[in-house]
Amino acid sequence: MGNIADRLARRIEADGPISVAAYMAEANAHYYATRDPFGSAGDFVTAPEISQMFGELIGAWIGDLWSRAGRPQDVHYVELGPGRGTLAADALRAMAAAGLKPPVHFVETSPVLRETQARRLPDALWHDDSDTLPEDGPLLIVANEFFDALPVRQLVRTEDGWRELVVALEDGAFRRAPGPIRPAPPGDAPPGTIVETCPAASAIIAGLARRIAAQGGTALIVDYGPVRSGTGDTLQAVSAHGFADPWVEPGERDLTAHVDFEALAEAAGREGVRVAGPRTQGEWLVAMGLDLRARALARSAPERADEIGAARERLAGPDEMGDLFKVMALVSPSWPEAAGFA
Ligand code: SAH
Repeated sequence: MGNIADRLARRIEADGPISVAAYMAEANAHYYATRDPFGSAGDFVTAPEISQMFGELIGAWIGDLWSRAGRPQDVHYVELGPGRGTLAADALRAMAAAGLKPPVHFVETSPVLRETQARRLPDALWHDDSDTLPEDGPLLIVANEFFDALPVRQLVRTEDGWRELVVALEDGAFRRAPGPIRPAPPGDAPPGTIVETCPAASAIIAGLARRIAAQGGTALIVDYGPVRSGTGDTLQAVSAHGFADPWVEPGERDLTAHVDFEALAEAAGREGVRVAGPRTQGEWLVAMGLDLRARALARSAPERADEIGAARERLAGPDEMGDLFKVMALVSPSWPEAAGFA
C-alpha cells in the first residue's frame, strides 16, 4: 500500500525529477483508489455529506431547467467524481419530484468508491472518463469537488525565465525545486511568482462543453477557488481534517489545488456554451431556496432543528464554505437560462 512513495522515489532516481503535475496525478490516483476518505473518521467532509439539502437543491435546479427546456425524455444524469453517491441520491430524489428520472452515469476511477456508489445506486453505469458518455441526448452533468483533485502544473518565475516546478529526491525525501525552462505564461511577474495551470481540467471542461453544445443540457460545477485567475501556490494536502505537507507520504493524503474558474469558463465558452456564474456557493444556495428548505426540514424534525441550522451555516456561511466555494453552470445555447445566477 505505502509503496507508492517507493515507486515514485525509484522513478525519480532512474529518470530524474518529475513534474508537480505528475506527482499529484500519481499520488491522488493511489489515494482515491485505496480508501473512502469522506466523513468525520476520514480526511475531509464535502458539502453533500454535510446535509441532504445540498444535493436536493442541485436536483431541484436541474429539474427546473429541464422542465423549462420542454421536458426532453432522452436525457442522462452524469456525475464526475461522485464520492459516496450521496449527492446523486439526494439530487435524483428531488429530480423525481419534478417528474425527471434519467439513467445515471458516473465518471469514477476509484474501484473502492465505485463499490460504495453501487450500494447506493445499483443501476448506475460507470465510465473511466467522460469520452464514453452517451451521445444520444442532453446531458445533465454535476461535478462537486472533482476539479480540485486534478493535477496542476506549477511554473515559477526565476531570474533567468520561467521554470517548471519539479519534484526531486534529496536525502531520500521528496523536495520541490525549479526544473527546466518553459515558455512564459501571459503577463510578467516578479521573480518567485508561481503560476498554476490545470491542463486536465481545461481538457475535460472543453470536452463536456462540446457535448452540451451539440447534444443539449447543462453542467453544474461546484468547487473551491477564486472567481478571477490569480498567481500563487495553492497546492495543499489534507489529512484527518488538518493541513499536511504535500511532499510527505504521497498517496496517503488528499492533494488539491484551487480551481481556476476563469480558465474553465474560457475553455467552455470557446466550445459555444453559455456560462452562468461563477457565484459564491452561499449566494447560490440561498437563491435556490436553502433557507426555505432548512425551515421545512426543521419543522418536520424539530429534534434536529439545531443540527439543520448548523448544516445550513456550514454550507452557506461566509467563514465556512459559503464564500470560498463557487458555483458555475454551462448551458447549451438551445436551453433556457439557468436559475440562481441573476
Ligand atoms: N463529489 C464527491 C466526491 C469528491 S472527492 C463529494 O462531493 O463528496 C473527488 C472524487 O473524484 C472522488 O470520487 C474521486 O475518486 C474522483 N476522482 C478523482 N480524480 C479522478 C479522475 N481523474 N477521474 C475520475 N474520477 C476522479
